[in-house]
Amino acid sequence: MTDLAKVAKEKGIKYFMISYTDLFGVQRAKLVPAAAIGAMQKSGAGFAGFATWLDMTPADPDLFAVPDPASLIQLPWKPEVGWLASDLVMDGKLVEQAPRNLLKRLVAGADAKGFEMKTGVECEYFLITQDGMGISDAADRQSKPCYDQSALTRRYDVITEICDAMLSLGWKPYQNDHEDANGQFEMNWEYDAALVTADRHAFFKYMVKTIAEKHGLRATFMPKPFMNLTGSGCHAHVSLWKGRKNLFEDPKGELGLAPLAYQFIGGVIHNAEALCALTNPTVNSYKRINAPVTLSGATWSPNTVTYTGNNRTHMIRIPEPGRFEFRLPDGAVNPYLLQAALLVAGLDGIDNRRDPGKRLDINMYTDGHTVKGAKRLPLNLLDALRALEASTVLKNGLGASFISSYLKLRRADWNDYARHLTEWERQTTLDC
Ligand SMILES: [Mg+2]
Repeated sequence: MTDLAKVAKEKGIKYFMISYTDLFGVQRAKLVPAAAIGAMQKSGAGFAGFATWLDMTPADPDLFAVPDPASLIQLPWKPEVGWLASDLVMDGKLVEQAPRNLLKRLVAGADAKGFEMKTGVECEYFLITQDGMGISDAADRQSKPCYDQSALTRRYDVITEICDAMLSLGWKPYQNDHEDANGQFEMNWEYDAALVTADRHAFFKYMVKTIAEKHGLRATFMPKPFMNLTGSGCHAHVSLWKGRKNLFEDPKGELGLAPLAYQFIGGVIHNAEALCALTNPTVNSYKRINAPVTLSGATWSPNTVTYTGNNRTHMIRIPEPGRFEFRLPDGAVNPYLLQAALLVAGLDGIDNRRDPGKRLDINMYTDGHTVKGAKRLPLNLLDALRALEASTVLKNGLGASFISSYLKLRRADWNDYARHLTEWERQTTLDC
């Protein structure tokens, strides 16, 4: 096992940031001087679990975050700090509902069946003003702003600082662009094993927010921060491997995908409504999916549970042989729960040989009404939570204790939202 105290000396690390991701995707951390890391590596850093989104109470004992040395990242903008993802332990036992613990358990389960899921994520985000009320570049006003060269150039310093960081970390980033909404950007790095991608995804969000702040800006991954603009998705590209062999690839299969890949897709389609509670976890998420057309002419997000070839108007796209793209998740998705949800749904598809039905090669935005029997996505968080509660596949896969904690916290979130009186209600109901 890597000795973190030794690593600190070798790499000039003065502080370790022992970090974990709670159920709502919030990053929590303790900053530990390198001199104290020896004991912390063994027993973990102590937290009061109930103070974060984990469904605990003040009567619970200490929660310990035991750092995973394999996840170590020296902050590219402050190399004297070493960031570590951790596993959560209470009373000497792994905490079942902790997102990273959960994903590790599922990855091990898949491994026992001879499968390794590899994924890449496309994290869209907005650079906005510090008060959060508008985009930060007043000149970014095109009605079709996707790939806007000048707007990208005006953010060169921020974008390249983030990309340089990913290069130095060995993530193999390969492109950066201005996305389809004013103020919106996306940066892509290479796909990897599900847990590696989840750790990087969690770190990426932290890094983008931190570097944006350094430049006097604010970064947000909120799914739909502006109603008239395209929202922020977190598309995931998925393949299943055994050693060096991509099991999804089959030159003789439809669109270059093996029957196993279609079973996996069948599982995602079968469980889609319940998955939404995880892939689209906030009240705001439902303003991105099921959205009216935006200024740019499209929402880029799905409304129905359908799949297709290289066509961006469905929930699942097969862009090329060997993988598929899952277009449902949004910027609020918990990096670990995204991978966990995909694994459970996909392996359910394989175990039960689920048939995804026929591929639809139509423009779903314009001709969706011609499709009979396609399932619709939930219209709001409450519907999605009800679907999750009713799903035995997800309950069995993710575990009863995770499901009960997650539903409890998200229901409270929904109830909090429902207690707000909106301006829309006032305007439409005052004269009733
Ligand atoms: Mg995109």
